Amino acid sequence: MTIDRRMFLKAATGAAGLPLLGSVGSARAAVASRVVVVGGGFAGATAAKYVALWGGPGVSVTLVEPNASHVSCILSNLVLNDRVQYSALNFSHARLNQRYGIELVRDRAVAADPVAGKLDLAGGGSVDFDRLIVAPGIGFDPVPGLETPALQAMVPHAWVAGDQTLTLRSQLLNMRNGGTVIMTIPKAPYRCPPGPYERACVIADYLKRKKPKSKIIVLDANPGIQAEVATFLNAFNITYAGRLTYVPNAEVVRVSFEGARRLAWVRDGAGEVSYGCDVLNHIPRNTAAPVVHQLGLANVAGRWAGVNPLSFESTAASRIHVIGDAQGTGLPKAGHIANSEAKVCADAVVRLLNGWPIDEPARMDSVVVNSACFSPITYDTASWLNAVFAYDPATRMMKRVEPSFGEAGTPSKKNFEQMFKWANRLFDDTFA
Ligand SMILES: Cc1cc2nc3c(=O)[nH]c(=O)nc-3n(C[C@H](O)[C@H](O)[C@H](O)COP(=O)(O)OP(=O)(O)OC[C@H]3O[C@@H](n4cnc5c(N)ncnc54)[C@H](O)[C@@H]3O)c2cc1C
Repeated sequence: MTIDRRMFLKAATGAAGLPLLGSVGSARAAVASRVVVVGGGFAGATAAKYVALWGGPGVSVTLVEPNASHVSCILSNLVLNDRVQYSALNFSHARLNQRYGIELVRDRAVAADPVAGKLDLAGGGSVDFDRLIVAPGIGFDPVPGLETPALQAMVPHAWVAGDQTLTLRSQLLNMRNGGTVIMTIPKAPYRCPPGPYERACVIADYLKRKKPKSKIIVLDANPGIQAEVATFLNAFNITYAGRLTYVPNAEVVRVSFEGARRLAWVRDGAGEVSYGCDVLNHIPRNTAAPVVHQLGLANVAGRWAGVNPLSFESTAASRIHVIGDAQGTGLPKAGHIANSEAKVCADAVVRLLNGWPIDEPARMDSVVVNSACFSPITYDTASWLNAVFAYDPATRMMKRVEPSFGEAGTPSKKNFEQMFKWANRLFDDTFA
C-alpha cells in the first residue's frame, strides 16, 4: 500500500474508523447493547466517546475509571523544566458524560467473566456488558530495593503522569547545584519510544539553565537509542556535551540507598557496578497494566495482550477488546496511536453488536492507524516522529506503511509551536 498526504491527514485526525460505518448504512445497534470501557486515558476515553457517537441510542456506554480526571503523559516532561503547568494536563471525564451520555463509574476493574458478560469492581459492585473494552495502560516490573510504596516514592518513575511527575520536579528543584541526576530507560517495548530520550534532553536543559554545575547520566537497558537516533545523538553529543553521559546496554537490576544518595546497580560481566546520584529517575520495565494480567489477557510474552487488529478483540477471551499501551500487536505504545486504535475498535464493536462483518475487503483496507510524537530537545525547540500502519490481510498483522512521514530533519522553534497545536487537537478529540 502506498500513502499520500490526504490519507496521512485522515489517519492523523484519527478518522480511520469514521468512513467505515458509512459504508454499511447508519450506525444503529439492532438491540439494546451495553459497552463497558475500562480506563479513561487516551485509548479508553476515545473509545467510549466514539462508541457512544457511532452506536446510536441503542447502545449504552459505561466508563470505569478510578479517577475523576486523566493527567496526560503527553507534554508531561515539560513540567520538569517549567515549560508547561501541571494543571494544564488534567482532563476531566465529566464532559464525556455531559456531551455523549457516557455513564461514569469511579471504580477499578478487578475481574471479568466474558461468558456471563460481567465485570467485577474493586468496590464490590459489578457491571454487565455485551462488549468490554479494556484500556488501562501500563504496569511495571517490580524493582529489587524498591519494595515499599515509601521507597518507590523516593525514586519516582513519572512514567504514568500524576503525583510522581510533581515529585520528580520538586526533587530536581531541591537538588544542589553540582548534583547528579540519573535516569534509566527500560528494555523495549515501553511506553513512548522517544519519550525517555526526550526527558533526558528536558532535564539536561533544566540543569544547564538552573543548576549549571550539575550533570545527568542516562542508563539505557537497550543497545542503543530507540527512536530519532540522529536527533538524540546530536543532542547528547553536541547540545549537551559535557553535561549528559549516555550509557547503552546498562540495565538496572536493583536500587539501594547510601544516606541521601541513591545507587543504581547495573550488571557488569559476572558482577555488578553502581552509579551514584542525588536524584534517581528509574523507569522500570513496562508491561500491560495489572488488570490485564488479572483478566488473563496477557498472552504475548506474558507481558501484553494479544488481539485481532481488525477489532482489537482479545485472542484470549471473546467479547473483550484491548487497546492502547496494553495491547500486543507490535504497534508503538503511544497516545496518538491509542486514540487511533480506539476508533478502529469502536467501529468494530458497533459492527459486531449489529451483526455486521468486520473483515470485508473495503473495511480491511481502511484499518489504518498512525502515530505521532513531538519531542522537546531544548528550552524552545522540538523534533517530531511519525509513522502510519495498515492492516495486512496476508499476515493478519499491522504493517508499517512505507513511505511513512518519518521524522523532523532538525529540531526547530516552529516544531515546538506545532507541538502544542497537535497536542491540543488530540486532547480535544479524546476528552472533549
Ligand atoms: C513522558 C511521556 C511523554 C509522552 N509523549 C507522547 C507523545 O508525544 N505522543 C504520543 O502519542 N504518546 C506519548 N506518550 C505516551 C502516551 O502517554 C501513552 O502511550 C498513552 O497514555 C497510552 O494510552 P492508554 O489509554 O493506553 O493508557 P493511559 O493513558 O495511561 O490510560 C490508562 C487509564 O486506565 C486507568 N486504569 C488503570 N487500571 C484500571 C483499572 N483496573 N480499572 C479502571 N481503570 C484503570 C488509569 O487510571 C488511566 O486513566 C508519552 C508518555 C510519556 C510517559
